[in-house]
Amino acid sequence: MSPLDIQVLQDQKALGILTALLRKERIPHALLLTGVEGIGKRPAALLFAMACNCRRIADGEAAVSAGAGIEAVAGCSCRSCRKILSGSHPDIHRVAPSGRMIKIERVRELCHTLSMKPYEAGLRVVIMEEAQAMNPESSNALLKMLEEPPDRTVFILTAPTPDDLLPTIASRCQTIRFHPLPQARVAAMLQERYGISPEDADALAILATGSPGRIDTGRPAERQAWIRRRRWILGRLAEMLTRSGRDLPVSSLLAVAERLSRKKAAVDGMLDIIKTWLRDLVVCRHCPDQVYHQEALNEIQRISFTFTEKSLLSKIEAVDAAQRDLRSNANIRLTLEVMVLQLAKK
Ligand SMILES: [Zn+2]
Repeated sequence: MSPLDIQVLQDQKALGILTALLRKERIPHALLLTGVEGIGKRPAALLFAMACNCRRIADGEAAVSAGAGIEAVAGCSCRSCRKILSGSHPDIHRVAPSGRMIKIERVRELCHTLSMKPYEAGLRVVIMEEAQAMNPESSNALLKMLEEPPDRTVFILTAPTPDDLLPTIASRCQTIRFHPLPQARVAAMLQERYGISPEDADALAILATGSPGRIDTGRPAERQAWIRRRRWILGRLAEMLTRSGRDLPVSSLLAVAERLSRKKAAVDGMLDIIKTWLRDLVVCRHCPDQVYHQEALNEIQRISFTFTEKSLLSKIEAVDAAQRDLRSNANIRLTLEVMVLQLAKK
């Protein structure tokens, strides 16, 4: 999926708001695009930057209309749009975390650049990705720029929610929220685009939880490996829960932890899959139609009622705890063993 390909799957309402701002030429100094990772905030920011500076629009050969929206520039190959897409436009500035932070040096450098006149742009655009990664120093430097916005410049920040930023920054931005897409829509797209079975498409869509950019569906071999790993872990999980507290030897539980730990890069994703299944065990009691794994609804209900809700919630917490520990570099094998033993507890 190319970055701009995803826009066909984005929250149309959010794109509609961006379109309306352009059409009414009421572009605020700062926008904040919020929503989960992979939902398409960055492609939307790029489209916006393209639409603001597109040569074909400037020459009257194309237009951002209510019907076509800002997606009208998605396939544009004018000089300006091409430069923006290749990252070589002198007036479109992209700032992203280096490591885990947006460092003050980068914000200062940006501040210096913006103090000069734009080179060629109709509107200079600063795209600050994952703005929540700014430390207090960087935040304050950005705040100064937002208080006295440079000429013909729009800041587009992206973050999961407005609460992830300093209130003084969030309040200076117009917030546009990107809502997750319905699972069925993501599944239908995956099936059509990659020619995979409805069952596999559903499985991938669950993983994406409304956010198509989150799944790397580019390489068929990887996709297949992921589907195999998913089947394996869900099989083991069902076995653990069905035989919970009885006749399941500890050695076989530890073997599951060992096998999980072998592919380190895939562990976090596997734990996410376990969590969606545990979530279903809780949700099926209250609203069965909201269960992600509809194909296994009977089995999910059968297993669910052999546990108390409290016990199910503590299992979800155990997986959360394992994910947290692994992200802070805890011993992988040991962490997974502890988690598996908790999952198998009655
Ligand atoms: Zn263009």
